Formats: sequence, C-alpha cells, structure tokens
Amino acid sequence: MRPLYVCAALLAAFAAPLFSQTPKVMMPEDLFRRNIGTKESQHKQFPPFKIVGNLYYVGTESLASFLIVTPAGDILINSCYEKDVPTIKNSVEKLGFRFSDIKILLGSHAHADHMEGDALVKQLTGARLMVMEKDIPGLLKIMPEGKPQVVDRVLQDKAEVNWGGVSLIARLTPGHTPGCTTWTTKIQENGKSYNVVIICSLGVNPGYQLVNNKQNPLIAAEYTRTFKVMRSLPCDIPLGSHPAMFDMAEKYAKIGKSATNPFIDPEGYIKEIDVNEQAFNLRRAQQLEAIESSTAGASTAQ
Ligand SMILES: [Zn+2]
Repeated sequence: MRPLYVCAALLAAFAAPLFSQTPKVMMPEDLFRRNIGTKESQHKQFPPFKIVGNLYYVGTESLASFLIVTPAGDILINSCYEKDVPTIKNSVEKLGFRFSDIKILLGSHAHADHMEGDALVKQLTGARLMVMEKDIPGLLKIMPEGKPQVVDRVLQDKAEVNWGGVSLIARLTPGHTPGCTTWTTKIQENGKSYNVVIICSLGVNPGYQLVNNKQNPLIAAEYTRTFKVMRSLPCDIPLGSHPAMFDMAEKYAKIGKSATNPFIDPEGYIKEIDVNEQAFNLRRAQQLEAIESSTAGASTAQ
C-alpha cells in the first residue's frame, strides 16, 4: 500500500501544474535554494524602502530584516549574520533613522542567517532581545567570535510585544526550528489597517528527518500543526525571513506604479503556505517509502 500511496502523492503533485489554480511543485531543496540565494546576495544590501506605514525593509537581497519605527524607539526584526549588521545599520540610516534608536530586537528563528548578529546589535544599541523559549538553546549555540547571546525576555506562543503603539504577536510555528516564530501585527496607512504576517520559515532543510527522528519524534506533527496555524492567520501583507518567500524584488519593482501597494498580497500568502506544505508532504512520503523498503529488505534478508 505504501509505495502506491507514495506514487499517488507524487503523481498528484506533478500533475498539479495542469490545473491553473495549483501552485508549481517545488521540492524542499528548490525552496531552500530559492530562499537562501547566493553567498553574494546574502550579504548584498537591498535598497532600503518603506513597505507600509511605519514598517521598513532594511535587509539584504536574500536575508530579510525589518524595522518598525515608533515614537518610543524602534523595533528590529532579524539581525542576520553578524557581518550584515553594518549593512542593516547603513540601511536604517539611509531611511533617515538612527540605529541607536532600536530598543527591541526580535528574530524569526535561531539560525545564524537570521539571528547571529543579535549580540552585536545589542552591543551597538542596548536593545532588549526577546526570543521564543524553544529557540533559546539553538540561539545560545550561535556565538559569533565567542560573543554570548543574552536574552532579555523569554516568549511563549501568542506573547505580545507592545511598544510605542505597535503590538506584535509571536506565534510559535515550529518544524523548521523548535521555536520558529511567525510575527503578526497590524500596520496603519492612510486610515486603513493591514494584517502583516512575517513568516518564520516553513521549509524542510536538506538533511531534516521527518520520519523516525530520534531527537524530535514529533517534528512531522509540528510541521502539520504549523501549516494549520499559518492558514488561520489573517494576512493582507505577507513577509518572511527570506525575501523570496514574498516575491520582494518583483513587488519592489512595482512600487509607485499603481494606486495599490504591491505588498498587499493575501493570495501570495496562501500560495507560500501551499508550496511549502506540498514540499513537506512529498519529503515525508519519500522518507516513509525509504524506511519501509529498507525494513522490507531487512526482513527478506532474515
Ligand atoms: Zn532557517
């Protein structure tokens, strides 16, 4: 039954492009490559710009960093690699803000490309670092040049970060990391309020074991629950820890070309969840199939 099930899943996935509504099938490796970009793009400054209201982009071509400006000081989401911190600082200044005004530092998840720079940002600004509890062990292992990471506030699912009239909610969306954090907030512009979702990551990295994972037996259940949580979040403006998750370059090119903000893209949000869930299901089916055929081989050998 299993191989049949796998074949059916693969067939369904590859037949999908025939139906115009269904997104193109991407495997986890395709999404991984799409997200991380090249070494060069990871460290190359993207022109800083206003996304909506008081929310700005200050990251690189393939590593996202966001600045929310408030009268009480600013919030930075994602410090990226430590070597990217001067680039982020430059982007903040190019927009006319002061890096030292950053009072709160948040992150998507405890991988070096999003949070390695936390210690340096804290050193330069004195900002308070707030991290989802389940990602703290991972973060503490990321010590650029031996610098320890110091967490000022431990977060749980649905924790609120209220600062300067902005309210951010931390949603625990594990799988990619145990404490993967999707940030949601409402941003106002021209009398309208927009639901913003900064996707942590829904990706299954190369080498991730979804079946028979001894370190984390619940990993597949975590991903499945995360996809459900993501679908429950109202979203007008999808963002994410990598610009490719929300087609940033394409949308940036459209700024000012029409009356509507190109970053308003609720369909793009659903598409991003779909494409990742499909990749997750395909990888899990492949791993199940591999384990079952090796078990079958072992019992024949006996
Ligand atoms: Zn990651």
